[in-house]
Amino acid sequence: MQKWLGEMGRSLRSIVYPHCCTACGSNVLPAANGICTHCLQQLPRTGFLQQRDNPVARVFWGRLHLEQAAALVWFQQHSAVQHLMHGIKYGGRKDAACQLGRWMGGQLLNSTWLRQIDGLLPVPLHASRLAARGYNQAACLCEGIAQVCGLPLILSAVQRQFATSTQTRQHRKARWNNMKQVFAVQNEGLLCNRHLLLVDDVITTGASLDALGQQLRLLPGVRLSVCCFAYTAPH
Ligand SMILES: [Zn+2]
Repeated sequence: MQKWLGEMGRSLRSIVYPHCCTACGSNVLPAANGICTHCLQQLPRTGFLQQRDNPVARVFWGRLHLEQAAALVWFQQHSAVQHLMHGIKYGGRKDAACQLGRWMGGQLLNSTWLRQIDGLLPVPLHASRLAARGYNQAACLCEGIAQVCGLPLILSAVQRQFATSTQTRQHRKARWNNMKQVFAVQNEGLLCNRHLLLVDDVITTGASLDALGQQLRLLPGVRLSVCCFAYTAPH
């Protein structure tokens, strides 16, 4: 009940005060921001950017060859990160997604990652979901990263052909099978002979990223890395 009231309170506040913090509800933040300074500083960082062999890299072992892979913060239930993910996915908080992207860009700039990356590729949303949400949160993350790092943003080179159903309860193997052929390359010219950084908001089993990567690696000269905002271990 308390949790429900908390959710209600946050939702109501976001209607009354559209510029409140997506994570804690504080309204002490600039109009362009979606997250307050305190919450941004308190994000539970993984340190994976500095750790080549990390749990996100291991998700893809034996499936998809990646140059490097990481997620920047830990996802936990009932945490500020969960409020953020919920807000950017279902609460219309595009401002928070773009701000998180700028924060990710800052983290990437402080790492050795960007030396070889040629472009940013958000995991595409299906057109019907994009129409319903009004934006692709992964593309917003990329916009923020691009603003900070100056890397090209590659949009509309790949299309998501099916709106996959909610997969949270599916077995890992079923998820992988369900994801085959979900993505279709539309514009090879934007992708060939490039080192692409695939970006998504959260990674659990990596099924979407793996399916996308499998299509991209069929193209000549493509190299791939993965960077997500949050990581949650599959259970
Ligand atoms: Zn906050």
